[in-house]
Amino acid sequence: MEATRATFKIPPQLANCPFTQDSIQEAVVTVCNHFFERQSFLKYVKLGGRKCIACREYITYYAEIPNVTEALNKEVTLPVIKLEGEHRIAQHQESITLEEDIVKTLFLIEYAATNQPLVEMLPFARACNEKDGGSTSTIRARIKAEVETANYIAALQRHQELLKGLYGSFSKISEYDTIQDFVNGLFNDDTTFFLYNHLLREANIDMFHRSANVVMGGKGVNRESDGEKVIADAEWGKKFRAVMGLLFAVALMIGIGRKVFRLA
Ligand SMILES: [Zn+2]
Repeated sequence: MEATRATFKIPPQLANCPFTQDSIQEAVVTVCNHFFERQSFLKYVKLGGRKCIACREYITYYAEIPNVTEALNKEVTLPVIKLEGEHRIAQHQESITLEEDIVKTLFLIEYAATNQPLVEMLPFARACNEKDGGSTSTIRARIKAEVETANYIAALQRHQELLKGLYGSFSKISEYDTIQDFVNGLFNDDTTFFLYNHLLREANIDMFHRSANVVMGGKGVNRESDGEKVIADAEWGKKFRAVMGLLFAVALMIGIGRKVFRLA
């Protein structure tokens, strides 16, 4: 049976968080007994960080310490949150506030993919609105207020296959309870995570080229982009990681087998 709680020894005083370099307000403790500011730690984990930045151990699990000042100099038993491979996010995310920048980008992707005017309420945005009306209207207001938005949408549209590939996954929002759950789910999938990052990077490079073209008096070069190839690469990368994971598991089993054999 898997352990869902673990006991941690909390020192009399916590060192500053290695991320913020500041004293820790809301603490998390890792399997290796290092302490971090919760928000920074979660951000690191979300970006795929799996090694403790204090000792380089793999963070197989961590725990949140509800009231760290009361826990100082004590042993506390806490529910643990397990972490798997890169970009895998624990289900325990209810308390995280919505990452509005990411959702804003997803809205822009929807505008680009469907080629609708900025004022329209599109299907993905409508689904978000049903789940969280307040955040959705804030994000939509921000989109309308930004002059650069139209340029950014045009840059995204230069990568049609990537755009359609990613936009296809938006229909899955109905499977999730909250917008943030959907964002977590999107980043939990290697292919969509790769496409999202790649699309944003390509759009930013396009914006850069456009500015360069203006400076150069229209003498710049438009880059070609092969979206289908990128999607194929992303899917191949996913298979590659799966195979590597399997090889690792086999190597681990052989290692354990040897140890057991030696002991016998
Ligand atoms: Zn550590």
